[in-house]
Amino acid sequence: MAAPPVVLSIAGSDPSGGAGIQADLKTFATLGVYGAAAVTCLTVQNTLGVRSFTPLDPLLVTEQIRAVLDDLPVSHVKIGMVGSAAIASAIGGILRDFSGEVVYDPVLKAGTGQSLLAGEARAALAQLLDRATVLTPNLPELAALSGLPCATATEITAAATALFQRHPRLAAMAVTGGHRDEAGREIVDLLYQRRPDGSLATSEHRHPRLASRNLHGTGCTFASALAACHALTGSYEKAFREASRLVAALIEQSADLSLGHGTGPLLHHLVRRTP
Ligand code: PLP
Repeated sequence: MAAPPVVLSIAGSDPSGGAGIQADLKTFATLGVYGAAAVTCLTVQNTLGVRSFTPLDPLLVTEQIRAVLDDLPVSHVKIGMVGSAAIASAIGGILRDFSGEVVYDPVLKAGTGQSLLAGEARAALAQLLDRATVLTPNLPELAALSGLPCATATEITAAATALFQRHPRLAAMAVTGGHRDEAGREIVDLLYQRRPDGSLATSEHRHPRLASRNLHGTGCTFASALAACHALTGSYEKAFREASRLVAALIEQSADLSLGHGTGPLLHHLVRRTP
């Protein structure tokens, strides 16, 4: 039997199973890649919100990553919540010699609003941005990382362009549009790809905005799906479209779910039933 592609998630643990490594591993299994996971932080949360989070010792984080990279043929690393400056630096260091794709979802806050990054850690994220080949920010994350406003299409492109200029390894950036025009009927996800001459190619995927309270883990699922689909196809464009389509389908299929008392999760296994 041929081995499937191996994708390593480096992220926080969500004991309620909706986000973090739990969402990442469900996404990988759903899409048919083998998922490994190195934990950065233990969060204490449920669908109602994050009660606390504890970053692990950075050495323990790098030892997990090293053990996986020493043994498994990892082609793609997906980074989510890192939690502290020391962990961001440790991951940046251990991935210095990793030659595969690094998909970085720059998690700053939970969907319910709580910060998921220690106060002083923002500057250390530059080390991860320097390692990343693909970035998957939402609009508040793009604005925070670039230091630029992201209210209009022109501003979003200017902010993306600034990050491509600052981080030469970045080949692609998928900006999820859920936070834009929140009263609007449509969500527009954007993909920027660096051309050989340095200019940016742009494409977009539009899908209807669906009313659902079950949005916990959508960012993690999008970034993991993009990593998995790129591992399977080698195309940023195909991976972006498939990730965008998958998250939209999961939101639709999970909309009637009543699980937990707050922002409920996606039911990843349902996607197997889509034609
Ligand atoms: N990573 C972890 C461990 C989390 O707990 C959360 C949110 O609670 C996130 C990432 C971000 O989640 P989302 O995919 O909803 O943006």
